[in-house]
Amino acid sequence: MSTFDNATADRPIGLTAPSGIDRAAHHRLDEAWLAAAWSHPTTRVFVVSGGQALIDDTPEGGTELLMTPSFEAPLTETHRYFLGTDEKGVRYFALQKDSLPGRMDQSARPAGLREAGMLLGPRDGALMAHAVALENWQRLHRFCSRCGERTVIAAAGHIRRCQACGAEHYPRTDPAVIMLVTDDQDRALLGRQVHWPEGRFSTLAGFVEPGESIEQAVAREVFEEAGVTVAEVEYVASQPWPFPSSLMLGFMARAGASEINVDGEEIEEARWFSREELTAAFASGEILPPFGLSIAARLIEIWYGKPLPKPGGAA
Ligand SMILES: [Zn+2]
Repeated sequence: MSTFDNATADRPIGLTAPSGIDRAAHHRLDEAWLAAAWSHPTTRVFVVSGGQALIDDTPEGGTELLMTPSFEAPLTETHRYFLGTDEKGVRYFALQKDSLPGRMDQSARPAGLREAGMLLGPRDGALMAHAVALENWQRLHRFCSRCGERTVIAAAGHIRRCQACGAEHYPRTDPAVIMLVTDDQDRALLGRQVHWPEGRFSTLAGFVEPGESIEQAVAREVFEEAGVTVAEVEYVASQPWPFPSSLMLGFMARAGASEINVDGEEIEEARWFSREELTAAFASGEILPPFGLSIAARLIEIWYGKPLPKPGGAA
């Protein structure tokens, strides 16, 4: 049985739900298959540019990626990423371009993943996260890290190959840990980063270092940032976080002691909140309710036991 009895979020975590997309990686090196898939009439394509894509409202009140058949998406001067197929056999591609296409209908609008990830369904959110992650990686890995020569795109966007030394470079994903720490009075530890606006408190987070387990990273980050020792760590869920290339690993953690000693560099202030104290701080406006795509709000909500108030007080 879980130490954290209520550690089951009843609300989905952004970009974490099953997408229904089979990435079908075995097709990535098959140029003939890719060409046939590209020209198939049911194939759907969207453009990714600078981390943005066009999204549009649906008649049902939802939001979707604006996708077109491939014949409406010319390939000139673009990179083509094959993203996978769905259960109906529809193939999905993203085109990386220097700019988004002109708006094809009035309600379509450009959006980054932080906004779109909260609005799109699991399929479109996963497609966009995949495309944005590839674009970020492509942009930052144009040169070979072995010999310094230019690399070229291969494997439908999933490899960069060096034509000088033959090295193949694969997209990287950097693990980061994000954790809600509670103490023996079941209070939650929330911190304020130095550059955050006043009133914003959230979970602590940080990158996993080389040669370190994720559990060790949780304990190290909490101690570095807040001076709190961690006695127990329990994994909750993960979330792709391609800003530019992270994977967020979410944890609940139990503190060994409640004394706080903030580092003052990353974290300016950290405090223990009981549920009642946090509720009162939200109501008075002293603390801004966490908002956004990040798993942070879900971790806090698991402990809080009910949905957090929405920013602006409309809860
Ligand atoms: Zn090279």
